[in-house]
Amino acid sequence: MSKRPNIWAAVTAASFSLALVTAPMATASPAPSTAQNSVNQLLPSSSSHLPLIPLASKPAPPRDPEKINVLVNKVYPLVPRKYTPKLRTISGTDVRLRPEAAAAYKKLLAAARKDGVRIRLTSGYRSYSVQAGLLEKYTRAYGLDYALRIAARPGTSEHQTGLAIDVGNPSRACALRDCFATTKVGRWMAKKAPKYGFILRYPEGQESVTGYKYEPWHFRFVGVTQAKSMAGFKSLEHYYGVSKASTKTPKTSKSAQGTKITTANLNLRTGPSTSESIIKTVKKGSKVQLAGKSSGVWIKVKHGGKTGWMSSEYLR
Ligand SMILES: [Zn+2]
Repeated sequence: MSKRPNIWAAVTAASFSLALVTAPMATASPAPSTAQNSVNQLLPSSSSHLPLIPLASKPAPPRDPEKINVLVNKVYPLVPRKYTPKLRTISGTDVRLRPEAAAAYKKLLAAARKDGVRIRLTSGYRSYSVQAGLLEKYTRAYGLDYALRIAARPGTSEHQTGLAIDVGNPSRACALRDCFATTKVGRWMAKKAPKYGFILRYPEGQESVTGYKYEPWHFRFVGVTQAKSMAGFKSLEHYYGVSKASTKTPKTSKSAQGTKITTANLNLRTGPSTSESIIKTVKKGSKVQLAGKSSGVWIKVKHGGKTGWMSSEYLR
């Protein structure tokens, strides 16, 4: 935790009201600026699976962590960051899940057993501090850039919602590897999990949208109704029609104008992500000029002749 950059250290002091004020702006349907950024990219590829809700009237993605369909990713962190859900332990394991997800998992497990498939539940709820430890471990092993492709920063992990599960085979075959998709459990889950309200959260080839490498073992409970209506959508981000969660290729939305005051020491970065380079650190209490673009919680600003991106959560 102590190794996190400034902005994340300040996160616990985040102002709720500000986060709520900035969220609708950040989640508005993005205006296409280039062919690559076209909103069409957010539509399912198959015309037989048109979105159920027209994009124009798409509601903002749920941010309330008590909602089972809450969107949590690198751009939409948990509010509050140290959110703790109500939890229930899954019998025969030391894994804990939100009661809604636990009940659904029980049904899924029974259905799998009927089909002759034994599922090993390897992970469920992870607290803020456990997630921080996990990211540190991966960072030591692989370096921060790669670690962030496979593990979330604390306060941005779906596991912290108590709604996400990692599953495996009893034999541990292909555990946490791409080839898990070809195993008995991997194949069964890909096909049947949505029926019980669980979606494959990080599909293959969607890292630029979801922010994570392919994880055929990670499933997210969103409820049976939503899981069914998500057929044809490549990811939860596509379903909600929001900007890419991986911010290597920034996607911009509604313009933002005017001036704001920083409520913490904030890093001005070359792009809307903590993985982007720091241009400079802007002191708490500084006046910044909004530069007309935002992406998730990130906003483009000008300060002292420099233009870059900073988190809108610490501006008022
Ligand atoms: Zn996972």
